[in-house]
Amino acid sequence: MTDRNQELFDRAKALIPGGVNSPVRAFKAVGGTPRFVQRAQGAYFWDANGQKYIDYIGSWGPMILGHGHPAVLEAVQKAALEGFSFGAPTEREVELAEEIIKLVPSIDMVRLVSSGTEAGMSAIRLARGATGRKKIIKFEGCYHGHADALLVKAGSGLATFGAATSAGVPPEVVQHTLVLEYNNVEQIEAAFAEHGADVACLIIEPIAGNMNFVRASVPFMKRCRELCTEHGALFAFDEVMTGFRVALGCAQSVYAKLIPGFEPDMTIMGKVIGGGMPLAAFGAKRAVMEQLAPLGAVYQAGTLSGNPIATACGLATLKEIQKPGFFEALSATTRSLVDGLTAAAKAEGVPFCGDSQGGMFGVFLFDELPQNYAKVMTTENARFNKLFHGLLDRGVYIAPALYEAGFVSSAHTAQDIADTVAAAKEVFKTL
Ligand code: PMP
Repeated sequence: MTDRNQELFDRAKALIPGGVNSPVRAFKAVGGTPRFVQRAQGAYFWDANGQKYIDYIGSWGPMILGHGHPAVLEAVQKAALEGFSFGAPTEREVELAEEIIKLVPSIDMVRLVSSGTEAGMSAIRLARGATGRKKIIKFEGCYHGHADALLVKAGSGLATFGAATSAGVPPEVVQHTLVLEYNNVEQIEAAFAEHGADVACLIIEPIAGNMNFVRASVPFMKRCRELCTEHGALFAFDEVMTGFRVALGCAQSVYAKLIPGFEPDMTIMGKVIGGGMPLAAFGAKRAVMEQLAPLGAVYQAGTLSGNPIATACGLATLKEIQKPGFFEALSATTRSLVDGLTAAAKAEGVPFCGDSQGGMFGVFLFDELPQNYAKVMTTENARFNKLFHGLLDRGVYIAPALYEAGFVSSAHTAQDIADTVAAAKEVFKTL
């Protein structure tokens, strides 16, 4: 039988760098042939060979209702008939802003954009403009999109300025970005002691899905909040992945339950708010957001911003996730997956652990949950790759990289979870 995935990959490689339009899709870390998706429905997608997979990526987070949810489909079809893009304001943009602001109390005003990268980049510019300061602090292992100033890894030594992780980013462009270790209270204290008056914002993934799944500890989060307040820096939550995914009130509502009165100053969102369409956003308190053009001096714009089809898709998605019991059910399904995988691994003597919040999860080939990027990256590549391909061969599609989170949708059934665990059990026997 001809392998249509391979044929398409060969064709793609001649035309598109690496054959893909976003690097992780190329299976570079795990090897093998990327699956070209032909169609998807509910919790499944079918590749170019017609092979069916249980999908634990869900477009890297947006598909919280699964693929082709009828209410979302209807909203998108109706919107498409009304027009694709106008470059003039629409009612749905107002409605989506109202929904976001209603669900996330730390946000007074919001601006819609088309990607998480754009949202993160714009939020950083706004933080710098609003504070009149240059420096930003980020954490090793957190990803905030591919804006130049954010493509930075830790330099050597304590609280040094970072080094660019990409060619094409001059050192001068990242000279104001500090990169610290996640969950390290001493480093953040030292950084603010030295640079506090120059820090425009501290940006964090509150539950870091770009190092698989690592939670900011409560003492660490609390200290970050205190230091930002003390030094007049804006505390920015990158909830592109966690927003409307880990809880209806986003990750900040999870921390507000653990730290009384807790709120970030800025929030960056994407993925679920677009329901699979290109849509992202950033929001903050009114005084900060009013610094944006056309009201203020911080420039930001977009031809397709607030796109009418994307807002229809996002609104329909947000409506579904607000139905009573939605997050309780999604959390229980996700938890049952992590528990099932852990029990299956333990039964086969494979070191394994995992964690989840709402519909987002992470699993590790360790006995204990890691607290930072350096620990995550000690995962034995060969073992992870064997797990990945073993599952793929059995019709289960997890992220093709060990530092990526997983996603469960409301379309995943108890049978899907049981099938996944049974497949994993077979693979664990070979690890
Ligand atoms: N922030 C986080 C936390 C992300 O996970 C991502 C993408 N995975 C981004 C920002 C960038 O979003 P996008 O890919 O839409 O540009």
